[in-house]
Amino acid sequence: MSDFDVIIIGAGPGGYVCAIRCAQLGLKTAVVEGRETLGGTCLNVGCIPSKALLNATHHLHEVHENFEKMGLMGGAPTVDWVKMLAYKQDVVNGNTKGIEFLFKKNKVTWLKGWGQITAPGQVKVGEETHTAKKIVIATGSEPASLPGVTVDEKTVVTSTGALELARIPASVTVIGAGVIGLELGSVYARLGAAVTVVEYLDVITPGMDAEVQKTFQRILTKQGLKFIMGAAVQGVETGPEGAVTTYKLRKDDSLATLNSEVVLVATGRKPYTAGLGLEALGVEMGPRGTIKTDAHWATNIPGVYAIGDAVAGPMLAHKAEDEGMAVAEVLAGKHGHVNYGVIPGVIYTTPEVASVGLTEEALKEAGRAYKAGKFPFMGNARAKAVFQAEGFVKILADAATDRILGCHIIGPGAGDLIHEVCVAMEFGASAQDLALTCHAHPTYSEAVREAALACGDGAIHA
Ligand code: FAD
Repeated sequence: MSDFDVIIIGAGPGGYVCAIRCAQLGLKTAVVEGRETLGGTCLNVGCIPSKALLNATHHLHEVHENFEKMGLMGGAPTVDWVKMLAYKQDVVNGNTKGIEFLFKKNKVTWLKGWGQITAPGQVKVGEETHTAKKIVIATGSEPASLPGVTVDEKTVVTSTGALELARIPASVTVIGAGVIGLELGSVYARLGAAVTVVEYLDVITPGMDAEVQKTFQRILTKQGLKFIMGAAVQGVETGPEGAVTTYKLRKDDSLATLNSEVVLVATGRKPYTAGLGLEALGVEMGPRGTIKTDAHWATNIPGVYAIGDAVAGPMLAHKAEDEGMAVAEVLAGKHGHVNYGVIPGVIYTTPEVASVGLTEEALKEAGRAYKAGKFPFMGNARAKAVFQAEGFVKILADAATDRILGCHIIGPGAGDLIHEVCVAMEFGASAQDLALTCHAHPTYSEAVREAALACGDGAIHA
């Protein structure tokens, strides 16, 4: 008899959510986690600590930018970096302890250590081998490396090092204008560092709606971030003074250098599967180091499944969580499902950026007839009251059926606003369905309704 019905390897958002759902569905469940705390990248060195620092520095930015305008006078607070890091750590600890509590509550066993699959149904942790009817790999991802750049997590850092720098640097070079680079770049810019973002492409946040990209870059530039676009980083040299980043401009192949106290390498992440024994087991791999799975997250080895950052798809905590829940349902003999067409993406800067579904660029490329309803936050009373009237909501709907195909928001609360559109899309709603739904006044969500109205006879306040 097996020790467990399911052993999950990795306690990130994919693994821990899968474990809780498996236990709720009556399966005897264990999770192998090598880290000292549960929650994976997301809770320990990803989503949660970055949002804590974004929150603290957002308030600082507000003091400098807007307090006086509201008649709130007095000196700006000074920054106690050690205390700010302690606040961030408290937030992390509270959340990781919370998962431990949930494991106990749901009777999920935590097998502490690094796991290796020695055979189908067998996971070795330390000297002990545990057996299970099914195994789920949820080992997540790690920062991608860049040729010519050696990370020491002090002067040249990944996001992990950037979340615990010894002091606030005077200058930061961020390599890569993706979500992580821009969020952490914003943090340090708000703390007074001179932040320069070096990006290989000619646009920031690749894959996002082009209008959002342009507006976002303009707003970040106004906030003090500098951008060097179309630049391929050749290498980073470190010395006592900090780091020198050499880059080549793609337009004319000219070389240039950039000095900074710290370099943040934010060029993406890659699946982490080291030490799992996948090769010996014969697990088929997909592109870019992902584990190949079928539509039910099964690998080619019977009884072995994989989810989250370790498999294909967007590297997002909620995508991992959804797959965790869905595969648990499959393992319990039910019907797990993830709608990959409705996975929102959010950037937690100020303003926030959020999107779901297809972009205009993708629709054009597919030759699909669509209509776009756009509403600027300039026409939203609440956004104006909080000095966040830049940005817009754009809803894309099928030209013939009016069915919502995508939504792109840059503005206050975008990360929350996007979800009414996600729900609408899940229900196959039309733009008119949203437009006919009463939205409370004065809320940012009125801008979503106005964008939906703009898909039809027109917005009211534009
Ligand atoms: P992970 O969270 O990476 O967890 C995998 C776990 O498996 C780890 O704890 C690891 O120690 C463990 N493990 C690996 N191998 C073994 C082994 N052999 N034995 C035992 N344990 C093992 N996503 C969002 O959706 N929103 C955000 O705001 C956001 N912000 C981010 C900010 C930063 C700075 C970073 C780096 C990432 C951010 N992400 C965000 C991405 C998010 O963190 C990941 O998509 C998510 O954590 C993936 O979950 P996962 O369960 O697949 O893997």
